[in-house]
Amino acid sequence: MPKKTFYLVSLGCAKNTVDSDSMAQLLQRDGYRAVRSPERAEVLIVNTCGFIGPAREESLEVLHQMAAVKRPDQMLIAAGCLTQRYGMEVARQVPGVDGILGTRRWMDILQVIRRLRRGPHPEPLYHLPDEAVTVGMDEQETLRASVAGASAYLKIADGCRRPCAFCAIPLIKGTTVSRPLNTILDEARRLRDAGVREIILIAQDTTDYGHDLGLQDGLAILLERLMDVVPDIDWVRIMYAFPGYVTDRLIEIMATHSQILPYLDIPLQHAHPETLKRMRRPSNVDWVRRTLAKMRAAMPGLAIRTTFIVGYPGETEEEFQTLLDFVDEMRFDRVGTFQFSFEAGTPSEPLGDPILPEIKETRYQRLMERQQAISLQINQSFVGQTLDVLIEGYNNGLSVGRSYRDAPEIDGLVFVEGRLEVGRILPVKITGAMAYDLTGVPALES
Ligand code: SF4
Repeated sequence: MPKKTFYLVSLGCAKNTVDSDSMAQLLQRDGYRAVRSPERAEVLIVNTCGFIGPAREESLEVLHQMAAVKRPDQMLIAAGCLTQRYGMEVARQVPGVDGILGTRRWMDILQVIRRLRRGPHPEPLYHLPDEAVTVGMDEQETLRASVAGASAYLKIADGCRRPCAFCAIPLIKGTTVSRPLNTILDEARRLRDAGVREIILIAQDTTDYGHDLGLQDGLAILLERLMDVVPDIDWVRIMYAFPGYVTDRLIEIMATHSQILPYLDIPLQHAHPETLKRMRRPSNVDWVRRTLAKMRAAMPGLAIRTTFIVGYPGETEEEFQTLLDFVDEMRFDRVGTFQFSFEAGTPSEPLGDPILPEIKETRYQRLMERQQAISLQINQSFVGQTLDVLIEGYNNGLSVGRSYRDAPEIDGLVFVEGRLEVGRILPVKITGAMAYDLTGVPALES
């Protein structure tokens, strides 16, 4: 088995994907080569997710699979949020893990490998320095972005200071640390120069960007500077906005720059003020109504994505009905729904998990069915229109891409007749609509 080869599995969210890519950059800079199958790698790395129950189970499952195929001349490193949160417990649950590396110290991957090489280690190597380091302080000149074709996630901050009662992220990542503005601008330039057409800004809470850098309205300032530095970028997409922090200045910059997509991902989690109060989330639902109305007026065709949690402790049928009515009223383009996952150590722990699984499941289905009908109606309204589509692949005689309404991996797709050039943004005449996806034909370029 060739030395200095690695096989990395990245689980969880786009922010974890960026950490995985940064670890890969450090390894390649040190002469390692990425391989496509675990049996051909000296170093096996699983960058885990530890956010909620189902994600933890998936991470443990993948670690078990890796441990099962691992040979004595290989090493298995568990990295990421699961290890940051549960440390050695992961190694106890998965015999065969040689190294434990927390998400806050992804940049120490080479250190861990070198220490493991110096083995043997009777016990798994435990690398979770307890100083409250978060990203942004020690990035070792890695590009904090993850590129997939003509699209790239660009991380602008990490960690979170919000008090959401159900969420373990602050436990795992620590408080918000914004990355230096000029570093982000430089990376945007490098991505543009590398042929990236779409930059997707990510953080746990993008609307909190810059508060720790002394910036008021930091996300709007970042976007204004991006428009100065990379005015020729095709698309800039904003993910993970926090309710209460979408300012008039942000709306203004979005509405006056065609490169900034009329798209906003703003997880709301619920719509009943009492449920939101128990979640320790902003409970001024009228702010949501007013702000989204303002955004829709400023950006006709604005696509809004949100996320809701059903089955939160204490959620009555009346509270759930309020959520359903709100979804009917607001007609979001995209809705992600989660069933409440009990998370020890979070502020919601004392509330327990009283809602029965079957009730959670029923509410999940009712909300998804309600949204599916709305999504189909909205999609049908695009039939006959022409949308710019970023072509990302070809499958079964159709080109596959995304419009401004579709963030990667979580929203819909556009299927276009013919084999179109991958990486191009092309006008497409929409000819058909499904619940989440659209179909179309190439439109004559004007
Ligand atoms: S905003 Fe709330 S839900 Fe999102 S990462 Fe922060 S604490 Fe968690």
